[in-house]
Amino acid sequence: MTRAPSQRSCVGCRTRVEPAALVRLRRRPDGEVVIDLDRRRTGRSAWLHPSRRCILAAGRQRAIARALGGPAKLSVREPEADALVGAIAAAVAGRLALLGRTAPTDSPEISALVRVQQSLQRSGEGA
Ligand SMILES: [Zn+2]
Repeated sequence: MTRAPSQRSCVGCRTRVEPAALVRLRRRPDGEVVIDLDRRRTGRSAWLHPSRRCILAAGRQRAIARALGGPAKLSVREPEADALVGAIAAAVAGRLALLGRTAPTDSPEISALVRVQQSLQRSGEGA
């Protein structure tokens, strides 16, 4: 099977897509899981569609902890999934506000973040 090296699988629904469509979660050395929007740091990471459904699916399968390798301090049931959706939305909004002052509005990073935001909004409405 030929794999485009730039593609990543969502740990929730297992679909392989371009990374811009996904949010990266990264495990810090202390075990804390952080939302890694700039994606430049190395380390174990889990990629997820920014949607409540994929977050819950990943939580049920313990896929996030598995992808992150080891005892990631993360349990994802309903309340945690909602909190994670909120945390991703807040991180994206914060990053957009920061970038808005420094990057041209047509930059690929900004359009990727806007897509994440729209996807979160859609998934929130359906839930
Ligand atoms: Zn997914």
